Amino acid sequence: MSRSVLVTGGNRGIGLAIARAFAKEGDRVAVTHRGGGAPDGLFGVRCDVTDAAAVDRAFTEVEQRHGPVEVLVANAGVTADMLLMRMDEAAFTGVLDTNLTGAFRVARRAVGPMLRMRRGRMIFISSVSGLSGAAGQANYAAAKAGMVGLARSLARELGSRGITVNVVAPGYVRTDMTDSLTEQRRAEVLGQIALRRTAVPEEVAGVVVFLAGEAASYITGAVVPVDGGLGMGH
Ligand code: NDP
Repeated sequence: MSRSVLVTGGNRGIGLAIARAFAKEGDRVAVTHRGGGAPDGLFGVRCDVTDAAAVDRAFTEVEQRHGPVEVLVANAGVTADMLLMRMDEAAFTGVLDTNLTGAFRVARRAVGPMLRMRRGRMIFISSVSGLSGAAGQANYAAAKAGMVGLARSLARELGSRGITVNVVAPGYVRTDMTDSLTEQRRAEVLGQIALRRTAVPEEVAGVVVFLAGEAASYITGAVVPVDGGLGMGH
């Protein structure tokens, strides 16, 4: 059955692959963008996840077009990598505001209609960095670890209402975000990946679609790594 799906940051990268994978399933898919528009064939709503009023307006638009959001994918994210000595408070809180508080804002806006429907799926895109930590990513790793606590708390709060909340923790996926890594850093990370290669966004998307589907009806509060063995044991 076709579901109303919303993917934040679904205009490019991993979010776009997730949106396209749901569209292929026949779902009614909306993506957020920050002014650049939505890729062909996808319904786009303008939304900056650091702005609660914009989040509210975006959900209202999606509800009018596709009905209440049944599957929420909190994917929007940013990095601002630097060593602690150089990281000022704005660089720390800014990354938390998008990745962690942004996920909170969209989950909070999504939950009312999901409770009324007595069903829903929330999937948070975290990162291997949030589980293992990463030098130069204190802000990002803290935000991504925070998403795990957020998701697991919501899983406990909402489980009795038929709503599941899960986390996907990708490793090294080829997108604009990882294009900015230096050759040296890239080689270092590759050496630590059991599969000795990076992922394509579609490999993350497949897991997200699975977690939103019937086959995952008894999975909640899980953290699913999609990292080629980079973060094993965390
Ligand atoms: P990209 O940089 O390619 O895309 C990021 C997306 O997030 C864009 O759509 C961007 O919108 C959106 N976004 C950023 N800030 C905001 C904001 N304030 N409000 C709304 N949307 C925003 O990143 P990826 O596709 O690589 O990453 C997607 C998610 O996966 C992120 O959460 C990231 O942390 C996570 N991840 C990525 C990994 C990787 O290796 N690539 C590894 C592990 C996790 P816009 O186009 O307007 O900038």
